[in-house]
Amino acid sequence: SKARLFDEKTDIKTTFKDVAGLEGAKEEIQEIVEFLKNPEKYTNLGGKIPKGALLVGPPGTGKTLLAKAVAGEAKVPFFSLSGSDFVEMFVGVGASRVRDLFKQAKEKSPAIIFIDEIDAVGRARGKNNMSGGNDERENTLNQLLTEMDGFGTNSNVIVLAATNRADVLDKALMRAGRFDRQIFVDLPDVRERKEIFEVHLAPLKKVEGLDTDFLAKQTPGFSGADIANVCNEAALIAARYDKKAVDKQDFLDAVDRIVGGLEKKNKIVT
Ligand code: ATP
Repeated sequence: SKARLFDEKTDIKTTFKDVAGLEGAKEEIQEIVEFLKNPEKYTNLGGKIPKGALLVGPPGTGKTLLAKAVAGEAKVPFFSLSGSDFVEMFVGVGASRVRDLFKQAKEKSPAIIFIDEIDAVGRARGKNNMSGGNDERENTLNQLLTEMDGFGTNSNVIVLAATNRADVLDKALMRAGRFDRQIFVDLPDVRERKEIFEVHLAPLKKVEGLDTDFLAKQTPGFSGADIANVCNEAALIAARYDKKAVDKQDFLDAVDRIVGGLEKKNKIVT
């Protein structure tokens, strides 16, 4: 059997409840849930359901989580893949894999296709082309554009794509009838960090009265993924000291550890 480029999941349990903060983004994307749940309501009036939306924001802010929640809320299958896989894993067959993906999604429609790191495949064409270019990537991108244009108005497949580099994307991707909506997913502010802590503290055995306001204040600049990491790390630290419940000091130690990791990461980048 041939290796698949994409992952297909039905019965997604993620809902908007799992996504803390991001009120604006949730509100905007709620519309897509409505389209998927009840397409006729819109098409009966002659409207065209959007084919795609771009989720734009820094790493770890919940773009994947939000896309998954759309599938969970609408109760539709979730086809996901990463833009970097197109370019790295399937040299020579990117375009045919894209065709395959859309074919499968249409058969199971209504459905969501989620493309993470779309910039890996969707960078502007015709740049850095000195060495003969990256034909493989361009073929794949062209096929993606073709598929999006080829959707009938009632194919009921909506493509969500995530990037933290909307500025490098080929403008053709953003044209009307493709990814013509952008939804911004920013780093959380202090109030949103508190909410994210509450989501990720819920499954932990912890001491009573943990102050999530305090934890939120201790973590400026942290993404949702960083906060999820802090919570997990705190539980591991507590376990190492044979504690019965995770306490405030474990969280502070975990924050220090994550800050250390972030500083190291930034040093490598700059
Ligand atoms: P990347 O650009 O690195 O792919 P992303 O924006 O897609 O990142 P996710 O993969 O959605 O980020 O986030 C990683 C994990 O961080 C999530 O599975 C979740 O555990 C946690 N997380 C991130 N944002 C939130 C949030 N707003 N609410 C709750 N959990 C969050």
